[in-house]
Amino acid sequence: MEWIELDGSRGEGGGQILRTALSLSMITGIPFAIERIRAGRKKPGLLRQHLTAVQAAAAVCGAQVEGAAPGSQRLRFQPGPIRGGDYAFAIGSAGSSTLVLQTVLPALWFADGPSTLRVSGGTHNPAAPPADFLIRCWQPLLRRMGVTLDIQLLRHGFYPAGGGEVLASTVPVTAWQPLQLEARGELRRQSAIGIVAGVPVDVAKREMQRAASQLGVLDEELRVLPSNEGPGNVLMVVQEYANITEVFCAFGERGVPSETVADRAAREARLFRDSGATVGEYLADQLLLPMALAGQGSFTTPALSLHLGTNCLVIEKFLSVRHVFEESDGVVRVSLA
Ligand code: AMP
Repeated sequence: MEWIELDGSRGEGGGQILRTALSLSMITGIPFAIERIRAGRKKPGLLRQHLTAVQAAAAVCGAQVEGAAPGSQRLRFQPGPIRGGDYAFAIGSAGSSTLVLQTVLPALWFADGPSTLRVSGGTHNPAAPPADFLIRCWQPLLRRMGVTLDIQLLRHGFYPAGGGEVLASTVPVTAWQPLQLEARGELRRQSAIGIVAGVPVDVAKREMQRAASQLGVLDEELRVLPSNEGPGNVLMVVQEYANITEVFCAFGERGVPSETVADRAAREARLFRDSGATVGEYLADQLLLPMALAGQGSFTTPALSLHLGTNCLVIEKFLSVRHVFEESDGVVRVSLA
């Protein structure tokens, strides 16, 4: 079989190129070779999160792999048949467990039986989907596409300590349904979730108050975690529309006032609310792969992000789909030709 050759420095040049390639290689059975992995990042090559994704993918389909070592910028991956089962993977750092989950789950939708997948590491990381995002935003849309999926957050994990855990159970998909997201519907509820672990409760309270002052009425959920799950602080703003839910988050940092943290999440939430798009920037690039697997679908998003464009290119290398982008009324409509 012919190998697909990928350049990991193309487009956004991050880990998503590798993760999408792993998922689609398992699903299609097409082997791939990638060079210059994450060449565009400060610490290029495979970090623990990416290495765990490679190892997890290899375990699920009995792949033959070359180059799976810390810091490696080259990888060759030759997949075998996907086997359902009970899997557990530990990143061993605060690397994002949700990104590992998102790499392996699509393959398990094409397995020979049901699966559970347990991943330990970070669950609330900057530059990755927080576990709450997967559960509230991504999972409901997948269920509408015919996927049976249950994701649970068992324990929170923050940078740098990690130690969090997510658990997903799923079964092979029998009939894919196209997701046509033409309108997000009315905004039914806005809430703020303030999480602290080993950080004063007041920090989360101030963040939620500030977000409310920026966004209007917000329901509040305060999660005070045992301090041994920290230190960590995150503010998530949840917008529940009739057809979709979006989550915008910001992380507490030493030396950064709670109000500034809240303003970051509130700004993103307000931009999305004002945009009229059906999904935000992040959900957009995370919907592409399932949409391509379903073979049909559409959504609108505020702008064509680099992640989105790059992910489309990787998907089009493995599957015979073509993405169409149309700009109108200040949003980009993405669909499959
Ligand atoms: P990469 O930078 O290539 O490793 O990809 C990062 C992934 O994390 C992309 O799929 C983004 O959509 C996703 N992501 C980054 N930040 C967030 C966030 N705040 N909320 C949800 N998803 C995110």
